[in-house]
Order: sequence, then C-alpha cells, then structure tokens
Amino acid sequence: SAARRAATSVTKTVCTYCGVGCSFDVMTRGREVLKVQPQQEGPANAISTCVKGKFGWDYVNADDRLTTPLIREDGRFREASWEEALALVAERMRAVLESHGPAGIATIASSKATNEDAYLTQKLARQVFRSHNIDNCSRYCQSPATQGLFRTVGHGGDAGSISDIERAALVLCVGTNTEQAHPVIAARVKRAQKVGGHQLVVVDLREHELAQRADLFVRPNPGTDLVWLSAVTKHVIDNGWQDEAFLAERVNGWDAYVASLEPFTLEYAEQRTGIASDVLVDLARRIAEAESVAALWAMGVTQHSAGSDTSTAISNLLLVTGNYGRPGTGAYPLRGHNNVQGCSDFGCVNDYLPGYQPVTDPEVVAKFEKAWGTELSTEKGLDNHTMITAIHDGTLRAMVVVGEELSLVDANAHYVQEALEKLDFLVVSELFFSRTCEFADVVLPAAASLEKDGTFVNTERRVQRLNKAMDPVGQARPDWKILTDIASAMGHEWGYEHPSQVMDEAASLTPLFAGVSYDRLEGYASLQWPVAEDGTDTPLLYTERFHFPDGNARLYPLEFTEPSDQADDEYPLHVNNGRVLEHFHEGNMTLRSAGLSSKVPDTYVEMTRRDAARYGGLRTGDWVELESRRGSITLRVLLSDQVRDGEVWVPMQAVELNLLTSEVSDEATHTPAYKELAARVRRVDGP
Ligand code: SF4
Repeated sequence: SAARRAATSVTKTVCTYCGVGCSFDVMTRGREVLKVQPQQEGPANAISTCVKGKFGWDYVNADDRLTTPLIREDGRFREASWEEALALVAERMRAVLESHGPAGIATIASSKATNEDAYLTQKLARQVFRSHNIDNCSRYCQSPATQGLFRTVGHGGDAGSISDIERAALVLCVGTNTEQAHPVIAARVKRAQKVGGHQLVVVDLREHELAQRADLFVRPNPGTDLVWLSAVTKHVIDNGWQDEAFLAERVNGWDAYVASLEPFTLEYAEQRTGIASDVLVDLARRIAEAESVAALWAMGVTQHSAGSDTSTAISNLLLVTGNYGRPGTGAYPLRGHNNVQGCSDFGCVNDYLPGYQPVTDPEVVAKFEKAWGTELSTEKGLDNHTMITAIHDGTLRAMVVVGEELSLVDANAHYVQEALEKLDFLVVSELFFSRTCEFADVVLPAAASLEKDGTFVNTERRVQRLNKAMDPVGQARPDWKILTDIASAMGHEWGYEHPSQVMDEAASLTPLFAGVSYDRLEGYASLQWPVAEDGTDTPLLYTERFHFPDGNARLYPLEFTEPSDQADDEYPLHVNNGRVLEHFHEGNMTLRSAGLSSKVPDTYVEMTRRDAARYGGLRTGDWVELESRRGSITLRVLLSDQVRDGEVWVPMQAVELNLLTSEVSDEATHTPAYKELAARVRRVDGP
C-alpha cells in the first residue's frame, strides 16, 4: 500500500561479512530489514552478493542484542547508565596508569567496525593510554601476507582490483577456499574460466568446489607450500623461463635469491611435498607461459609457522615471472573480515601509526604529537600474541576490547582464557554478550553496521561509505562515539560529532589517504588507496614503481622450516579448518540469522570413509571427541570426499576449535599456526 511504501527507506551500505566489500541498497521499514538490493554501480560486486550479504541481517534485531551498559558487581552483571559505566572505566584505567604505567593497558580493535572506529581505537590507545599496545585480528589471519608484500613489493595490500583478477590468463589459488570464503570473487574467477577460457590452478589440501573446477588441482602435504613454490620458481629459472627484462629493470636481489633456491630441487620437493615432479614441472610451465598471472591466497597459507615466508615465496614467484604492474597480474591476499584491511590501514597495529607510518620514526611521531597535543612513545607496543604473555607475566593489567571474541579466536584458548581471568579490569564493547564478555568488568552496547555511518576498506584497498539505515537499538552507541566518550571521561575532549570529522583528521595525518573525504565517497563512489590530495586514486599498484625508495622490487631469499605439531602415531590426523559459506567466523552474527543458521546449524568434522572405518566404523552424524596435545572438543562426523586419508577438516563456526590449537606462531608476525594441528578421534556419546 502507499502507506507501507512511504515508510520504507533505502540506504546504501556495505556488507559486514567478508573482505570482498559488496555494496548494496538495503530497504528498511523502521528496524525491519525488508530487502537487500545490489546495484550495477557497486564497484566490487555490481549486482552480485552471496547468501550472507543477502540474508544475514537478522542479528541486528536479535532478542539478545546488548541495549544498555553492564557493570560486574559481586560476580554478577547489572545494568548501568552510560555515565556510571564511563566514570568507572575512567577511574579504573587511571588507577592502572598510575600503578603500572602505559605498559599496563592494551587495546584491541575490531576489524568488523569502521575505519573511523579503528582510527579512534588507536588514538585512545596512543593518546589517552600512551602506548602502542594496540592490535586487531589481522594478527590472526592476514599479517603474514602483508609481511610477504612488505618484504618484496612494499605495499601491504592487493596489487590490483577484483576486476583485474578476472583479466588474468591464469589464476593461481593457494590455500583459499574462495568459493565459500569470498564467494563473489570466486564467481568472477569461474566466469573468467568458463567464458574467457582463462586457466584456473588450485593448490590446497582439501578438494573443495573451486579445486574440483580447476584446470590443475595440486595437493601438497600439509605445511609444505614454501617448498613447492620455491621448487617451481627454481625450475622456471633453471630453464631460463624468467622475465629477464622485468627483472633487469625493476627487481633487486637476484644473485642472493637464486643462491637461496639451491636446496629446492624437484627431487627434494617431490619427496617433501608429495607432489610428483612432472606435476611441478607442469605447474612451472603453465605459470611461466601464461600472459598474466594473479595469485590469490588466504589462511591456508598464512596460518602456519612459515606463513610470512610462504606469502613471500608467492610474491617472489610473481616477480621472477614478471607478474606485477599490469592488469591481470599480481598478489591478492584475500582479506577475511569486512574491514581487516582498513583496521590495519588506520593504525590498529603495534608498530605503525595510520597509513603504515612507523612508530619508531621520530618525524612521524612528532607529526602525531603535534596534532594530538600528547607525547607519544617511539617504541613498538605489544601485539595480540605478546599481550597474552604480558598478562600472564603480570605487566599488562587492563584491556579495552572492541568487538573481538578474544577468548575464542586466539590459538590455545585455555591459555587465553586463563589470562583474561587474571586481568584487573576488562572493558568490552559488543553487540551481544559474547564469551569474552564473561571475563569483563564493564560491557558497553555497540551499534551494528546498519546503525552507523562510516567507511570500510575492502580487500582491493577500496574505501567505501556505509550509511546509517536505522537508529542504534536501545542505548547502544556507535564505537566511534563510545571511544570518544571514554577519552572524554579521561580528560581528552576530542569533540567529534560525526565520523566524517574523524576521516578528515585521519586523512590530514596520513599520506596514504590524503585525498579521502566523505564528499568524494558519496553514494557508490569509492577510492582505492593510495589516494593523492587531489583525489586521484590507485586501482592498480606498481605500474611504474614498487613502494621502496629506489622504486625497485626485492627478491627475498627463504629457507624451509618444518611445520610444528605434525601428525604422528599418537595423534595421527592433521586437522585443517576454514569457513563455510553460510557462516562468519565464530558465528556470533550468522548463527543469529535464521536463514543462515537453519542451513548449517552446528559444526562437524569432515573425514574420509576409510578413516571413519579405521576409527571405529564411524558414520555421518556420529559423535566423536577430537583430541589434540592441548585439549579436546566434541562434535559430529561428516563423511566427505573433499578431505584425504589422514586429514580432517573442521569449520570454524560454533566450535571451540582453539582449545586444540597451540601457541606456536609465525616468527615474523606472531600469527598463530592454527593450521598446524595434529589430533586423534574416538567415538563418544552425544552431549
Ligand atoms: Fe559479498 Fe562477502 Fe558479503 Fe558475500 S559475504 S555479500 S561475498 S561481501
């Protein structure tokens, strides 16, 4: 009816479920989400979305949304006013600063929140709490990919645009279940293969849908990607298939790099990776002969003790074959969270101020000191990993956690939960009473993405606006406002009234975003960083220069180190894990969305029929205990053809998988080696 139509509003927003960054109009009536309508102008997705973007919004109106601040008193939580909660936060944080100094406080940002939220999270840590103890969940997933790019090409972001991937003559997917984790990118890759005749090469443990469609699917032994990548690169060079002109003009470090490849013979690679040498040769030939190669990778690469080195090896291979700086070429680490790129870009890391300006650079620090009127440290802070150790050591006493399910997502969750118990004071800002809230002293109700204005950066470095479609539920506030209120309670009047002012300040201090402003991001307009002051953006990186002082890329020599926690007689199964299409991480949002949770309501362990027979004649639906050297979980069996004998796979939603994982991490970034996990199974009665 006309009345119904009159009450409907249409608001452009950006999906909160993955780094593809699909944008669309959302139609709402009051708090009711009626429909999601993608538009042709959507720069990342045009008229496509996946099931999460389309149907995943019930969580915004879930009955158990937090609607008021909560304060713990005598072991129980009671409702409180914002004034009381903020005053308590300020009082307790001041006390910790006095007793333990800036080292006593750490802050964790949310990669689901906006860039403006991220900028203020790091400003709170640095200006108000006076330390660089700030980090975000890229530490759990993509930091090693960024490290690999910093070492070789200079910018920590995808080389080109999502549309460039479609132009690649050969798309190489390593350790990414793109079809489930980044569905709209997978759709483009499949279209390029089917319609454009482009080649698709997939290297992974599990034979998922994309692997089944690949022109070549290769299955290495767990944890050995660096070996085949190096062997393939060596074979290219041994046969003179490298791009000589590109290397001579644009790349440094040839001699030391070639010498480092010495051990990676085909024989050694075959023995260690399990990939037959004729397949390695085929792989090398395809990559060398392709007119353009785009390499996509994700957590199957990064979540290893050699995650940074393996990411570097991918970039080395692209450099040797001249695959940077042209459409259809380059490195595409696929970012997981909707704003994990932006959260790091806007400075929520322990070693960089916004725009990857080092905290150890006195000129950079002086610039921020002047803008913020505070003295800043020039020493790196703690990252997510070292924060937990510092709590156990007694030096770190209080934390502010913005929308991160810290007690479940870090590896070795027992150790993390023990640490959270020890904190003197924990503040959590959240949509729901998460597991982490159970450890909190104050819980602050946060607004969901549909309830706020701001920007996200997607995997292709694209800054996009999301617009407020409805008011926050109850007394919930957007994080930028909560952070501003905490700062104010501690005597720092930031005075922001709208996130656009936060972006203006960030842009004025950050060359990477110099020309970013809300005026330039109206509607479906977007900007890919670096953005010059006049608003010129950069869809494709490295067309003329790599991001180093001399403009040249750098080949980076590597050695192979054995993965930790390998399967043995006692723990004979390698445990892999990943996403399913319908769910986002631990499932706090998607399990509250009826259309998604009804399709995949609980979790399971995939195993082969042969392993199922070997471990007690298990059938789909049977309950088992999966036990590692650190803990055990109970879940159902799903017999599957996608895994191999000796390897099982567990989706990451709705399961305390990290009770099993270890504290071993990538040396360069401290990203946990989640994918290095051995376990055994035994049949149990259901819970
Ligand atoms: Fe797009 Fe990712 Fe959202 Fe799906 S989850 S709609 S692919 S941004």
